[in-house]
Amino acid sequence: MDNFQLFNPVNIVFGKNTIGELPNLLKDKSNILFAYGGGSIKKNGVYQQIKTALSHKTVFEFAGIEANPDYDTLMKAVEICRKDNIDFILAVGGGSVIDGCKFIAHAAKYKGKNPWEILLGKPMKDAIPLGCILTLSATGSEMNTFSVISKRSTNEKKAFSSPLSFPKFSILDPSITFSLPERQVINGIIDPFVHVAEQYLTYDVNAPLQNRQSEAILKTLIEEGPKALKNPTNYDVRANLMWCATNALNGTIGKGVPQDWATHEIGHELTACFGLDHAQTLAVILPAVLKYEFAQKKKRLSHFGQVIFNIKANSDNKIAKSAIEKTENFFRSLGAKTRISEYKISKKALKPIPTQVIKTAGGKKLGEHMHIGEKEISEILDLAFE
Ligand code: NAP
Ligand code: FE
Repeated sequence: MDNFQLFNPVNIVFGKNTIGELPNLLKDKSNILFAYGGGSIKKNGVYQQIKTALSHKTVFEFAGIEANPDYDTLMKAVEICRKDNIDFILAVGGGSVIDGCKFIAHAAKYKGKNPWEILLGKPMKDAIPLGCILTLSATGSEMNTFSVISKRSTNEKKAFSSPLSFPKFSILDPSITFSLPERQVINGIIDPFVHVAEQYLTYDVNAPLQNRQSEAILKTLIEEGPKALKNPTNYDVRANLMWCATNALNGTIGKGVPQDWATHEIGHELTACFGLDHAQTLAVILPAVLKYEFAQKKKRLSHFGQVIFNIKANSDNKIAKSAIEKTENFFRSLGAKTRISEYKISKKALKPIPTQVIKTAGGKKLGEHMHIGEKEISEILDLAFE
């Protein structure tokens, strides 16, 4: 097992009616920025619950943080934070609102002229504290330090990580996810599945605990995911999916083991250039990465195939191949597309992607062996196309 440090201070408040805990959680805060997305919370009653819970506070509202939160939108909230001396940000939404608020929190305290530099890895000394009410379980942002920000004016999508991004608390009420449209339920199964795959389908470093933690999440997603699509208001199913998504990217399963992230890094560029949902990009890229990296990943894929899909065959080769097929079939059974050609994207339009991916990665190659460069990305995109 590799060396590691693990620190995660997020107070998770999980369960039914937990929005009622807000007044306690915000006891010593006075000027609160209540930030949300395009309005789903006004339809499912969450907005009103929050307004009631915050009725004795000074609250500034910021609506309209879009999916794949945009730099220009977020900078408008940064202005409010500075002008109105915001001392706490309450992010209410999915990964986009939470990631967006992590950026707002840092940018509001940024002393330099161009807050985009935060995305370029400038170490940050200060940020406004934030808390979350999660409405879509998928990204794990509610319990991690990551934030992915888009800049539509330049077709960029970049991630940053800062210890100051850890939410002070995250309220996870699974019943809030009953109102999700089917497409977002599917996204909420595939994103955590791929988060686990990026930390589990690499190479063996003798870490059976982390492996089994990963396998527990994968199995639960495979069992519970289809149930959520069939019966959207089953509380226990939503609770299991929500807790899976948080655990898939709160740091635990990736400690002491190699990590890949090539699928995410290539996927981000597909979102930036073509506007695909985050999880839609992952469903087309993961199978291609697994096929392309077959020789390096074969042993882990074979183990995964046996434990997760119960595949029996007389060689690692056969089991590993079948495991990739079963993964793809699982995505398709949920209703996800697994080829780029199924979207209205031409092969020609993919040409600039490899250069862009490596540029966004700061010139570094991708994957657990750091050997995936432009040529390799272009071959992965070919495999993902049809
Ligand atoms: P999202 O972009 O936050 O939300 C997608 C859509 O779902 C929005 O249109 C939203 O509508 C709607 N929605 C949310 N909750 C709802 C509810 N309860 N009922 C009905 N509709 C609801 O989706 P996401 O998948 O959670 O986040 C994706 C973003 O996170 C991407 O930018 C991705 O790159 C990033 N990401 C971050 C991490 C991380 O660790 N930080 C990891 C993976 C991905 P409204 O706007 O109207 O609310
Ligand atoms: Fe993701």
